[in-house]
Amino acid sequence: MVKDKPHLNLVIIGHIDHGKSTMMGCMLIKTGAVTDREARELEKLAKEYDRESWSYAYVFDRLKEERQRGITIDLAFRKFETESKYFTIIDAPGHADFVKNMITGASQADAAILVVSGKKGEMEVGVAANGQTREHAYLAQTLGVKQLVVAINKADNWEYSEERYNECKDAISDLLKTIGFPVKTINFVPTSGMTGENLAEKSDKLSWYKGPTLLEAIDSFVIPEKPTNKPLRVPIQDAYKIKGTGVVPVGRVETGILKTGDKIIIKPTGFQGEIRSIEMHHEEIKEALPGDNIGFSIRGIEMKDVGRGDCMGHPSNPPTVINPSGSWTGQIIVIWHPTALAQGYTPVIHAHTAQIAAKFASLDKKLDQKTGTVIEDNPKFIKKNEAAIVTLQPIKKMCLEKYTEIPEMGRFAVRDMGRTVAVGIVKEIKSE
Ligand code: GDP
Repeated sequence: MVKDKPHLNLVIIGHIDHGKSTMMGCMLIKTGAVTDREARELEKLAKEYDRESWSYAYVFDRLKEERQRGITIDLAFRKFETESKYFTIIDAPGHADFVKNMITGASQADAAILVVSGKKGEMEVGVAANGQTREHAYLAQTLGVKQLVVAINKADNWEYSEERYNECKDAISDLLKTIGFPVKTINFVPTSGMTGENLAEKSDKLSWYKGPTLLEAIDSFVIPEKPTNKPLRVPIQDAYKIKGTGVVPVGRVETGILKTGDKIIIKPTGFQGEIRSIEMHHEEIKEALPGDNIGFSIRGIEMKDVGRGDCMGHPSNPPTVINPSGSWTGQIIVIWHPTALAQGYTPVIHAHTAQIAAKFASLDKKLDQKTGTVIEDNPKFIKKNEAAIVTLQPIKKMCLEKYTEIPEMGRFAVRDMGRTVAVGIVKEIKSE
């Protein structure tokens, strides 16, 4: 693995059974991320697990099984490289932690492969009102995934037909357009994850197709620029008291640049001080950039001054705080709820490293998911798959930013009963 190639986080999305695991298993083998020997070992393992047949999906599914059994996942199985980049495959939206990880920045997907089965009936089910092709594409857009490639999959099943490809491409284009993706720049690659058609090599069975292979398409993704020119925001993950050093807060730089000697402020506590030293991977560094996980020491800081969920910035442009007497308006999509959300509902909000209960003070507008236009003012309820503008009031001080200004700090998840009920972005803030 060449570590100095630029890196992208990739998420594989799409309706269940459209062939995501099979395709990723095949890709990992084709790119050499899993060697032939490892593949044979996996095959043996698959047999021991009493699976009927060996398939590429097993390579990828092994990740899921390991996760279920709580074993640390071998990272090698989640990384692969192309000509110019290397990729980490992150949790898929089917996984419980996906949305939360995206929101809290634990694993921000930069790009996505949307796998759509072209098999008769399957594509149609995916794009239908309750389909996961639709749901996942919407989530990806809301959570800031800007780059996308579409694999029109299972080509062996639809006899490599150009006509069927066009039918699928048109339907998916319409869907993506209404969600707000720049369809003109998106590649639609006809593939078979089972036989490897158009994954790493051009398929002669699909000679009418003139575009890139799937690997070429993801190789052409652009590496997002680090948001170094935005105000400094470091959400605090934790703080430790270390003998001889004092209190060491740790966190990830989301935006801006932090240097030793910088004057800083921590919100909502209001503590101000000066950065004495910064550490990353146990080494002292002079400056930290977005994406860096760091620990740092500050003269005079005590445990009461800093904790999980707080946010550090420069005093000239401090993190925004919402007081319990204030509120924010959010645009949300309800992903799951047994009944419906109503005014007064007070679940836990997860945003960056903060987890704070907040009340739905009002339901302001129900929106058409497809067009974003208002379909109802002051709705009484919002249900699964519905989008809305709502006003939320935190029960204690909370750091958030407008999504248009600092997107990294402007996303949130609504959690209840151990599940993600909704995801949203911050539209407006009333501090108090
Ligand atoms: P996932 O739920 O999206 O991860 O889908 P899987 O990879 O588990 O595949 C679901 C089903 O579709 C399995 O029965 C696969 O054997 C089948 N399948 C996956 N890829 C292909 C393909 O390219 N062609 C055909 N004909 N079947 C496929």
